[in-house]
Amino acid sequence: MRWLGAAMSLAAAFDLYALDGRALSSSPLRYPLLALAAAVLVALWMRRQRRHRAAIAEALRTGEQRLNLALVGSGDGLWDWNLVTGEIYRLRIAEMLGYHPSELPDDHSLRDQLIHPEDRDEVERRMAAAIAGRASYVAEYRMRARDGRWRWIHDQGNVVTRDDEGRPLRIAGTCRDVTERKTVEQELRLWATVFESSAEAVVVSDPRDRIVAINPAFSRMTGYAREEVLERPTSILHSQRHDPNFYRQLRQTLLDTGRWQGEVWQHRKNGDDFLAWVNVNAVRDEHDRITHYVLVAIDITQRKLDEERLRILANYDTLTELPNRSQFQERLAEALARMEAKGGELALIFADLDRFKQINDSLGHAIGDRLLQVVAQRLRGAVRRADLVARLGGDEFTVVMENAGGRERIRQVAERILGAFARPVHLEGHEIPVTTSIGISVYPRDGTTVEVLLKHADTAMYQAKSLGRNQLQFFTAEMSARAIERLSYETNLRRAEERGELELRYQPTLDLASDAVSGVEALLRWRHPERGLLAPKDFLEVAEDAGLIVPIGAWVLRTACAQAAAWQRRGLTPLEVAVNLSASQLRFENLADTVASALDRAGLAPELLLLELTESVVMEADSAAQSIARLYALKDLGVRLAIDDFGTGYSSLSYLKRLPIDTLKIDRSFVRDLLVSPQDAAIVEAIIAMARSLGLRVVAEGVETREQLDVLRRAGCHEVQGYYFSRPRPASEIPALVAGDAAGEETEPPARRTGSGG
Ligand code: C2E
Ligand code: MG
Ligand code: MG
Repeated sequence: MRWLGAAMSLAAAFDLYALDGRALSSSPLRYPLLALAAAVLVALWMRRQRRHRAAIAEALRTGEQRLNLALVGSGDGLWDWNLVTGEIYRLRIAEMLGYHPSELPDDHSLRDQLIHPEDRDEVERRMAAAIAGRASYVAEYRMRARDGRWRWIHDQGNVVTRDDEGRPLRIAGTCRDVTERKTVEQELRLWATVFESSAEAVVVSDPRDRIVAINPAFSRMTGYAREEVLERPTSILHSQRHDPNFYRQLRQTLLDTGRWQGEVWQHRKNGDDFLAWVNVNAVRDEHDRITHYVLVAIDITQRKLDEERLRILANYDTLTELPNRSQFQERLAEALARMEAKGGELALIFADLDRFKQINDSLGHAIGDRLLQVVAQRLRGAVRRADLVARLGGDEFTVVMENAGGRERIRQVAERILGAFARPVHLEGHEIPVTTSIGISVYPRDGTTVEVLLKHADTAMYQAKSLGRNQLQFFTAEMSARAIERLSYETNLRRAEERGELELRYQPTLDLASDAVSGVEALLRWRHPERGLLAPKDFLEVAEDAGLIVPIGAWVLRTACAQAAAWQRRGLTPLEVAVNLSASQLRFENLADTVASALDRAGLAPELLLLELTESVVMEADSAAQSIARLYALKDLGVRLAIDDFGTGYSSLSYLKRLPIDTLKIDRSFVRDLLVSPQDAAIVEAIIAMARSLGLRVVAEGVETREQLDVLRRAGCHEVQGYYFSRPRPASEIPALVAGDAAGEETEPPARRTGSGG
């Protein structure tokens, strides 16, 4: 407008000049001049116009430069979105992400291209809210940088222009790369979660040892809430179990090395102590000054208890809670080392229950277990507190007496142990008689190592067993020789059958009704290459232990059956032949087959074979039920069964009734004292009466005198067997005997072997 005004006044000036000069107004130059003036005016106007635009552009450029500088300085980017055209102006945003500005679209499609898919909806939602005027726009989201990595962007803006009706026209804002802050934040959050959720108690304290932070695990472990411990010294956790020096040293180590770890007793709020595994580390700043201590603690009280429990499990017998074999060996070794250092005697008492297996099998394992517990208690009660009582396994127990104090003292203790068993044990209505056999070895005389002392005590214990059980034996060198002997016995016995060293003797049984020989009992002998003829008591136990009794027993069966058949073939009146069976044989599944095949090979009628079993054989073989089943299987073959040595075992009438037996053989021990002991006479009479009432035949063993025979005859005994009538004889002598020639002695077995017959 100002320009137009200027041109008009210029034109007016020409007019005035013309009027004044009078020449111009009428001059023919008047119009060209006017046109020239106008052109000049226009040119001038346009130049002004150009200058003005340049100035504006220049101003804008400087503004943008400044803005750019500001943005570079702040690290921010800027955007300006024209909501009407959809155009978006961006400054420094491309650079922030490593792009050239020309690489980015200048509209909203950038969002779909670069913002993380998971964040898009949220960004959109917030932007929509801002445009709707509900809030200013703030969002944090990830954008893909040119290098392919995601950057975190903090973005904020506001509607800057609205139309007359308040509708938004422009929205603008700034954004900034906050990836680093985000990472740190995330890490912090992670650590905070670890701190909060850790099962380990964490305490942070300042260099003056005041608590500045704890985690929930700390509260759980100590019972202290946050507010109860903040600003308080860590010494509130100190336990009386450590002396103050301990904590001083701990602190010193921390100062010197910046770390400490170990087991510490800590104090709970409720006054309890607990054992903790503690790890303390100093935290230092960039100048290496300690700013904090971080203490991490695990409650290991339970672990310690578990360890202790495991130790007990590994070293103690769970049934009796006595030390087990490994613990026993360890502690005996320690005791021996002490003895060696100080001098003195140590006694190893080895106790093995008598006939435990029978008890276990007949009354069941539950009662067997309880019995062992009672035994353990009684053993403990019989010795000094300081003595070590252990269970080696099964029914084997040991007592170690350090500073044993001489043989007599040891004997007293061992006798006390024997005495502790004098009372039967009562369990679930059963009265169980328990006895034990004891072997004793003494350090240093009988050995100086665990192995040797144990072996020798064991040898002595075996001796006690073989001498009739329920007694004690000190180890002697002679026993050891016997143990070695046993070994060579075993080797020889293995070959005895093939070498033809086994023999049978036959002892007749006299039928008191007819005064005739009714049968013979086969009795085993071993013609030992050096020792001569051996009776069963010299080798049966070895055979049993070495598992030889089954093959030897089969040999006896075959030989006895064959012999009986041979006599019959030679025209002798059929004789019943009796064969003794051992527990192992009865336990052996194929016993019935073995018997059947022996009968078969010999061609002997089964009713001519009498199988003798002692009560303990029946009990020992297996469970009672199984034994009975086996007896029935034998019975099914048609053979006859006898209970041998009757009266020495756990004889019970009800038990007898369940067995498919035909004959009872009264043990020799009752017969022996028949005339001197009224009790024995009464027992014998009762057995005979009982057997008869059960329909069983009764045989009395070991009849040595005429008087004994008379008593037995009067009592109603069916048959007798014994030296009075005949000793066991070789097979060759039996026919004459049966024919009535009762004279003659058993020639071969040395007299000393007939002293105890079983
Ligand atoms: P047993 O079956 O009770 O045999 C009777 C034992 O008493 C025999 O001893 C016999 O010689 C002895 N005897 C017989 N009459 C008298 C007597 O009047 N006075 C005395 N003092 N003793 C007499 P032996 O032959 O030494 O046999 C002992 C035990 O060995 C037998 O006792 C039997 O249990 C067992 N036995 C014998 N042979 C075998 C066998 O082949 N197998 C098995 N498993 N055991 C056998
Ligand atoms: Mg017998
Ligand atoms: Mg007998």
